[in-house]
Amino acid sequence: MIGVNAVDNNLKSVINKQVERTMNNLVKNNMMAIYVENRDQVVDKVAELIKEGELVAAGGSMTLAETGVLEHLKAGHYNFLDRHAKGLTREQIEEIYRKSFFADTYLTSTNAITEDGELYNVDGNGNRVAAMIYGPKSVIVVAGINKIVRNEDEAVERVRRIAAPANAVRLNKDTPCTKTGYCVDCRVDDRICSSYTVFRQQKYKDRIKVILVGESLGY
Ligand code: SF4
Repeated sequence: MIGVNAVDNNLKSVINKQVERTMNNLVKNNMMAIYVENRDQVVDKVAELIKEGELVAAGGSMTLAETGVLEHLKAGHYNFLDRHAKGLTREQIEEIYRKSFFADTYLTSTNAITEDGELYNVDGNGNRVAAMIYGPKSVIVVAGINKIVRNEDEAVERVRRIAAPANAVRLNKDTPCTKTGYCVDCRVDDRICSSYTVFRQQKYKDRIKVILVGESLGY
């Protein structure tokens, strides 16, 4: 009989190969790929990649909150453009979005990572994918291994069936997917999906740094 540990090890071996393929292809696409075992190791890794006093900004992300990165950014080591600071008006938040393009480092997660080494993201406002594409000198992407998918088709499917509906629920949006749990490509005013982006081979080597975490994080 195959014991539980043996099954776990078999599964681990498959996951390790998937992670290895993904990291190798991220590197081929000129992105830095870093692996850490669990969420407790993320803040130290992030701190190694940012200098004290840098201008830092972050996109909306459950993963950054779950790994303690958001708290670390607010702790006074950096000049943090905090879009969640209490009492900000809509205009001030928009101002932070624009200032973020001048950040030394921008932190975010990603909606999916393909084994071909691509990042796939869908944005409503667009500030997050815009900063990932151009502006900040360095971009740190933190993602759990639950975000890894085989290819671009699976990335699209992951966003339609998991990431976007879950985010619509989190943001309390009145969209069909908050009721059905999957995307129906709605036409309502509350729609959160506007810009669909794929990051393939990057022009500037290692500008984007992907920290893959060996557990499930965010959506
Ligand atoms: S397009 Fe509409 S239905 Fe589809 S995930 Fe986005 S908000 Fe939900």
